[in-house]
Amino acid sequence: MAEPTEVPRFDAETNFKLDRLWSEFEDASVEQEFQHHHRIATHTTLVRTLVFSGVFYVAFAFSDIAALGYSRTTFVLFLARCGLALTCVVGLRVASLLHVSVASLRAAASAVEIVGFTGFMMITWLRPNGMATHCMSMCILLIVVYNFIPNKLIWALLISLAATIAFIAISAALKTLDSSALLTSSMLLVFTNVLGYVTARRHNRLVRDEFCQHALLRNLSVRDYLTDCFNRRYLTDVLFDAELRRTRLYKSKLAVILCDIDHFKQINDSYGHPAGDAVLRTFAALLLAHTRHEVDSVIRYGGEEFLLLLPQTDVAGATVLAERMRQSFELTTTRAWDGREIRSTASFGVVAVDCAGGSGLDLVTEESLVGAADAQLYRAKNAGRNRVCASGAPSAPDQDAGQEGVFAVT
Ligand code: GH3
Ligand code: MG
Ligand code: MG
Repeated sequence: MAEPTEVPRFDAETNFKLDRLWSEFEDASVEQEFQHHHRIATHTTLVRTLVFSGVFYVAFAFSDIAALGYSRTTFVLFLARCGLALTCVVGLRVASLLHVSVASLRAAASAVEIVGFTGFMMITWLRPNGMATHCMSMCILLIVVYNFIPNKLIWALLISLAATIAFIAISAALKTLDSSALLTSSMLLVFTNVLGYVTARRHNRLVRDEFCQHALLRNLSVRDYLTDCFNRRYLTDVLFDAELRRTRLYKSKLAVILCDIDHFKQINDSYGHPAGDAVLRTFAALLLAHTRHEVDSVIRYGGEEFLLLLPQTDVAGATVLAERMRQSFELTTTRAWDGREIRSTASFGVVAVDCAGGSGLDLVTEESLVGAADAQLYRAKNAGRNRVCASGAPSAPDQDAGQEGVFAVT
């Protein structure tokens, strides 16, 4: 069964705007959500690149032997290459940890990049006769750092620039290249850095564009277009079971409020459908504003009927909340497209399950709980509308008696 996940409301203008320099989301919480969403891909890429880089880096020890023979320097360089391989192994160990954070994966990536470049500078210094080849290798290393090792672009850029400056400084100090060759290799390295940065930035944009499309589709599939509340399919497929399971696990409470706008048909008939839609949006916004962000869920259950799922809430708490929302809606006006002001009221049915007792909870289903809330809503309508009725409340009639033990009585 899928877990409910926070689905960002899709607003391409504000939430999903990209930073111009790095092509990362400007909104830190959206960027974090993207990183979380992309974590498995980041992990897989890192693991592959670490294995690949470690093996190749050590394998190139043969080029040291070819250049220097079996000398002391060759052995020192072999140790430097093993140092990078060891860093890759540590990085793989970090990546294999359960629930490893994106920050840790990036720290592992940065460590491999720094150790790799440091080893490479040693190789360049101790094998001064192969500067042209070293420059070629340096370009390849830069491309790997910018585009293959998954890291934050700013870190990749800073590490690459520092390595490029060090390489040019070593080349100049060794004096094995004439000035034109030194200039050419320096320009080649600058060009590779620009190329690496541009392609990394483009990659950042592409994967984030894909995330935006995903968020858009996910919003379309779980939220109601008119009111921005969750839709009924999401309640049945994901939300209800997940909340009930969590309530059982933590031996907690779960309240359900079913509410319905009173005489809504008359609003449509008197003011027109667009005005009715405006009232629906007002009511939904009020419900969302009164509930806890990322804790409670507001679902458009039917036309002008909304269902609220309130974890860790008993029937008394939910009744107080429902009464507050009722009073607030009673005082709220909606302006129709033609300027006319519309006032309306709503009725509320409240029930709750209490898992602390434990008895009879296996009998609770979406149908039984919503059915019980509907019975309370029906009572509120019959009692004259614009009121809150709760199971177990002092005015509850005997029709609730059969449900005691399942629904908390406060
Ligand atoms: P009660 O007080 O008993 O709830 O009466 P009511 O008029 O609110 O309830 P009824 O079920 O008779 O009417 C509900 C109306 O809601 C009928 C339907 O046309 C309207 N409706 C359903 N969905 C929408 C919508 O998305 N927009 C608009 N404007 N009206 C809708
Ligand atoms: Mg109604
Ligand atoms: Mg209705």
